[in-house]
Amino acid sequence: MRKTAVVLTLALAAALAGCRGTSPDSAKAGADAPLPSIKIMVGGIDKVIYLPAKLTEQLGGFQAEGLTVQLLTEPSGATAENVLISGDVQGVVGFYDHTIDLQTKGKCITSVVQFADVPGEVEMVAAGKASSIRSPADFKGKKMGVTSPGSSTDFLTQYLATKAGLTSADYTTVKAQAGQTFIAAIDNGGIDAGMTTDPTAAKLVSTGKGKVLLDMRTEAGAKQALGGLYPASSLYMDCGWVQSHPEQVQKLANAFVKTLRWIKGHSADEIAAKMPAEYAAGDTMNPMRRAPEQTPGPMHDAPDYIVLAVPPAALALLVENGEVGRRIVDRVPHLSELQRLNSEPIAVLDLYFTRKLDGLPRENVAMVDSTCDLSFLDLSQLWDNPAMRDVTVLTVAASDYWALSSEDPEQNGQAMIQTLHDYLPLFDPGAKWGQSADIDWTRTHYESNKSDTLFINQVGSEAWRPHTHYAAVSNLFFAGDLCLNKIDMATVEAAVTSGLNAAIAIQQKDPLGDPIKIAHLPTCPETAILAMKLLMAPSALLAARLSTRR
Ligand SMILES: Cc1cc2nc3c(=O)[nH]c(=O)nc-3n(C[C@H](O)[C@H](O)[C@H](O)COP(=O)(O)OP(=O)(O)OC[C@H]3O[C@@H](n4cnc5c(N)ncnc54)[C@H](O)[C@@H]3O)c2cc1C
Repeated sequence: MRKTAVVLTLALAAALAGCRGTSPDSAKAGADAPLPSIKIMVGGIDKVIYLPAKLTEQLGGFQAEGLTVQLLTEPSGATAENVLISGDVQGVVGFYDHTIDLQTKGKCITSVVQFADVPGEVEMVAAGKASSIRSPADFKGKKMGVTSPGSSTDFLTQYLATKAGLTSADYTTVKAQAGQTFIAAIDNGGIDAGMTTDPTAAKLVSTGKGKVLLDMRTEAGAKQALGGLYPASSLYMDCGWVQSHPEQVQKLANAFVKTLRWIKGHSADEIAAKMPAEYAAGDTMNPMRRAPEQTPGPMHDAPDYIVLAVPPAALALLVENGEVGRRIVDRVPHLSELQRLNSEPIAVLDLYFTRKLDGLPRENVAMVDSTCDLSFLDLSQLWDNPAMRDVTVLTVAASDYWALSSEDPEQNGQAMIQTLHDYLPLFDPGAKWGQSADIDWTRTHYESNKSDTLFINQVGSEAWRPHTHYAAVSNLFFAGDLCLNKIDMATVEAAVTSGLNAAIAIQQKDPLGDPIKIAHLPTCPETAILAMKLLMAPSALLAARLSTRR
């Protein structure tokens, strides 16, 4: 474990040996008044190529310059680029090529400190595909993983393909991100090959899941793959911000350049020792962190413990996945019943009015007998925002999604508005989506939620729902609202409770930290609820008779 971190850091230290620091000439270092804080988005804080960002913080480099710097992380360079443009951050630690990409889009972005002359990227091939992908010419017809479309890994893949006489239309670009997502994609055939950095690349090699096709972590490897050096990791910033904040930019440059010099003068062990413990090989969240021979559980491969917290249909597939005899259902046959569990979409309309609708209750309101089982909640009554004082905002839900007749979101949204109007004739519904002047169409939004369905906890389903843990697979645990738990309703509370149950079950196997306890809120005894129900029955019956749809 420690060894892996050392090897990775060594590779980086070698890459950084050729680093250059640049800084604005005009800046004057002044140290009097406290400077406003700076937010920097790192395109994956646990990537070894961007280690100087966290290391500067660890070495106290920002503080020494009188700066308050907040490091944020975002695994894709393309997304980091967007937050810089939107002004949410003042700088990005990412690939230099984004500065060029953004200039083609009319934005002036400049590299302030260049960390390395080599990309630090590796083109990895799935172990089983190594014989058929021997050079970039073999990318043709293959599924090529990149962090995300528009990222530097995408640019580099396109360049390698173009150099080999292909175009990006000759292969399929797959968003594979990095870390565990990338490893899973290469493992389950989602990608045939892909571009990634350490620690992901090192982990694929050490587990035998991937092989290195092109190694751009070293000067020699970069020259061989790309025909020359390639300025990569850098701190880049908006030109306007750089010009208007020369003092802060100079101090940032000072801090980073000092770190780069520090890296050059220290061993891999010394660098590793300065980083947070969880940084080593980016393994804190990684269930593969233990070597196979140390694995306690009887299920194959290396994970310590796995918690599966996915919806019923996905879970049913996972437990049946694999070779017969090695599947989870072979150990726990009862789990094949998961296929019986149902979930349904609930369409939701965020309905913004242009004015206040008076007299709405604060409670959730159900429209009895409505075709799509409509209900609404007046969100604006619950908000403090003064900008919302003079308008009404409802969240309207259709629990019977299939009663909405169209696949067209606007038609379904309009059907919900019309049904709402049948019960609440306080506004003009318009004849079609976008027409009524009473509705703020710039904000109103319909979502079918067909891909985020609600688990239906139907009567009798207890027998099919999973327990937190089965002794037959000692390192596997289940969580999610579908699991049997004390809350027993498909709600966030049930999902959280099931996650805590899984944590408790793992802690029983591996007693680390203080015991986990679930604090349940006191509830009314069931006998008291029954008595109240009987007492209220006459009023409820009367209310049902009087409430007619108008
Ligand atoms: C429209 C709607 C409104 C709701 N309103 C409320 C409310 O007001 N209050 C309330 O308490 N509850 C509400 N719920 C219910 C609540 O959202 C759920 O009970 C809760 O989110 C369940 O959490 P979970 O972790 O079990 O599952 P989910 O939140 O569904 O999370 C499952 C995760 O698994 C991922 N996944 C799926 N397949 C795979 C796969 N093969 N591999 C890896 N990952 C996978 C999904 O992307 C998802 O992130 C609502 C639900 C819906 C649909």
